[in-house]
Amino acid sequence: MSFPYRSYALISRERIARNYRNVCAVVGADVAVAGVIKADAYGHGALEVARTLEAEGARWLAVSSVEEGVHLRENGITAPSILVMGGFLNYEIPALIEHRLTPAVHSLAEIGDLDRAGRLAGRTVPYHLKIDSGMGRLGTRATAGEIVAAVSGAAHAGFEGMMTHFASAADYTTPQTSQQLDFFHETLGKLTEAGVVPAYVHTSSTNAIGYGRRGGWHNLVRAGHALYGYVSPARGEAPRQLLEVKPALTWKAKILAIKDLPEGALVGYGGSFRAAAPMRIGVIGAGYADGVFHRLSNRGKVIADGKLASILGTISMDLTTVDLSHTAALAPGDDVTLLGEEGGVRLDAQQIAKIAGTISYNILCGIGARVHRVYT
Ligand SMILES: *Cc1c(COP(=O)(O)O)cnc(C)c1O
Repeated sequence: MSFPYRSYALISRERIARNYRNVCAVVGADVAVAGVIKADAYGHGALEVARTLEAEGARWLAVSSVEEGVHLRENGITAPSILVMGGFLNYEIPALIEHRLTPAVHSLAEIGDLDRAGRLAGRTVPYHLKIDSGMGRLGTRATAGEIVAAVSGAAHAGFEGMMTHFASAADYTTPQTSQQLDFFHETLGKLTEAGVVPAYVHTSSTNAIGYGRRGGWHNLVRAGHALYGYVSPARGEAPRQLLEVKPALTWKAKILAIKDLPEGALVGYGGSFRAAAPMRIGVIGAGYADGVFHRLSNRGKVIADGKLASILGTISMDLTTVDLSHTAALAPGDDVTLLGEEGGVRLDAQQIAKIAGTISYNILCGIGARVHRVYT
């Protein structure tokens, strides 16, 4: 199956749905699963993924920004809760309320801001309070006493959830995750004693689900990477991986030209590749503007005619040159696979990330806007 685009991503809705169902099955019926679809669903298309999850009965979606949440609502996504995990700035509060988005709150002052806006709008604005339990990024470091006072004093801001985020959930060489959980539970316990009890408690994303850190599941988990088919490799002695998920995205690009180079020919900017012998090369219609990492220059691979083929020379903005010496079966207009499976050979975002010196999340989110998304 090929499509008439220089570079395109084939995205399997069925695969995403199955990954979502597998996450739901692992955590069990008592734990809700929020589908994390920030950053255009890690490059998979936020609207399509939201529709796919809604069709699976998902009641929770999570995005990073108010803008991402508004985009979903304006395009007919009616999931009861869309959690805005990256919080909000003051000028975004009217949009939050208008579009029934649920913000994560990262400071007690923000509870007051929501309360005032809620009073003006004649509504109670639900929010989830994020605790900085040791990641040192977003989240409040206020004491339980201060939290109780702020939550109780806000009649038009509804304390619906309490959350935190783990820094090292796949790392079994450090106690950081259990320390974060202990801190979180201590705060939660003090709030409960004071009669301040959130309906939802959530701390886990993909890795804490996949490695079975059950103490962190509570009654809601936030799954992103798993929906797209990945769990980060563990460090140290990790328990068995519980999640069975598979990549949902295949990325292809067209061969624009094929030619034979004589021994000694240079390839690409800077002449950083020299043909040691006569060879056949293919010029592919995708470059770093499409998300082919420049760091893959002279290092990365693509799959061409069912075999791994080396990237030659530096990656250009719009073009990548690869070694096609192994095959005579390809012609201009044929596809190579930049990410995915072809002829039994597999190249996934984790393998690519390793060569590029980054993480799989970065590879998926890096697939450019110019790459056509095709849904199957
Ligand atoms: C992105 C994000 C997630 C999802 O993480 P995955 O590892 O992709 O499952 C969960 N919670 C927060 C706060 C996030 O920013």
